[in-house]
Amino acid sequence: MEKKKRNIAILGSTGSIGTQALDIISMHEDRFEAYALAANNNVELLAKQARKFLPEVVVIANESKYEQLKQALNDLPIKVWAGSRAIEEVVRDENIDMVLTAMVGFSGLKPTISAIQSGKAIALANKETLVVAGELIMELSYENCVPILPVDSEHSAIFQCLNGEDCNEIDKILLTASGGPFRNFSKTELTKVTKAQALNHPNWNMGAKVTIDSSTLMNKGFEMIEAKWLFDVKPSDVEVVIHPQSIIHSMVQFRDTSVMAQLGQPDMRVPIQYAFSYPERLRSNFETINIFDIATFTFEKPDTKRFRNLTFAYQAIETGGNMPCILNAANEIAVSAFLEEKIGYLQMSDVIEKTMQRASFVTNPSLDDYLETDTEVRKIAEEMI
Ligand code: MN
Repeated sequence: MEKKKRNIAILGSTGSIGTQALDIISMHEDRFEAYALAANNNVELLAKQARKFLPEVVVIANESKYEQLKQALNDLPIKVWAGSRAIEEVVRDENIDMVLTAMVGFSGLKPTISAIQSGKAIALANKETLVVAGELIMELSYENCVPILPVDSEHSAIFQCLNGEDCNEIDKILLTASGGPFRNFSKTELTKVTKAQALNHPNWNMGAKVTIDSSTLMNKGFEMIEAKWLFDVKPSDVEVVIHPQSIIHSMVQFRDTSVMAQLGQPDMRVPIQYAFSYPERLRSNFETINIFDIATFTFEKPDTKRFRNLTFAYQAIETGGNMPCILNAANEIAVSAFLEEKIGYLQMSDVIEKTMQRASFVTNPSLDDYLETDTEVRKIAEEMI
């Protein structure tokens, strides 16, 4: 029997996850349709993608690029929208089955809420959404009976280890991390790290922000928070394990002491495809691991003296309220300042630490509180830079 095609909206189609998601769609044209594409700024690539995939609608968040996009597609029957409100709107289309949230940072929050409220399955690549407002997002997903399928490789691994384990309590999640390019750098060496060095990740090919976050272990801190919400565990039950080979994508330990792991090449297309096709596994031509070529697997504890962001993440989620939202916004400002070469590598952690001390704390934040916190924190962090 021929299966119905899954109509997918890709939010952030011109980024690293978005372009790899479109690769998956072109590999399985019989199964998936790129129904809507949305990008922040990159109008040239968005137009090119639209020409190739012929979606129903494209959205450019930056409204000043609207005319350019409209012009570029004026010979095609594709609807062209602009503005961040249009992204929240587009996901409500009744023909959309699944929304891949692959925008960067806080900007992913509102469109994700809108997609959940309109009952779309979520393929979640924007981890900041759960960092900022995990409680709210999980509540909404239960209320609307919407599945959240993790695209992050670690969470996809954990999700796979939990298949069929509904009744079994999790003792511990072993969240693996490559350790990034500066795993063995001393504190003095870390002070001198340049933007170019930080953008060069040894194992994973990713966008700029997540690459910097990986190198500082902020990414792992965010992923711990993401795991807490997705799998309903205590933060203290998520243990970060440095595994430089990046072949084991994470593990779950159960109460009978059994540990399940998911292994594979570090290739984001695998978790993207799994989120798209779940529960089915589609045949692919990705490179397999050759177990005989992998001489050794090594594991280390992270050094939180050199990589302080990981400690901040545990503190933020243990404190609760809007503290993870504060952490996220401070980090977004710190990372862009580093990418603009306004502050040094270790100063990113200083900005985050001081901002967490200064921003107004809210115990039970609403969506409006999160929006206010984000604006306030950006101001505080920017003034520091
Ligand atoms: Mn990850």
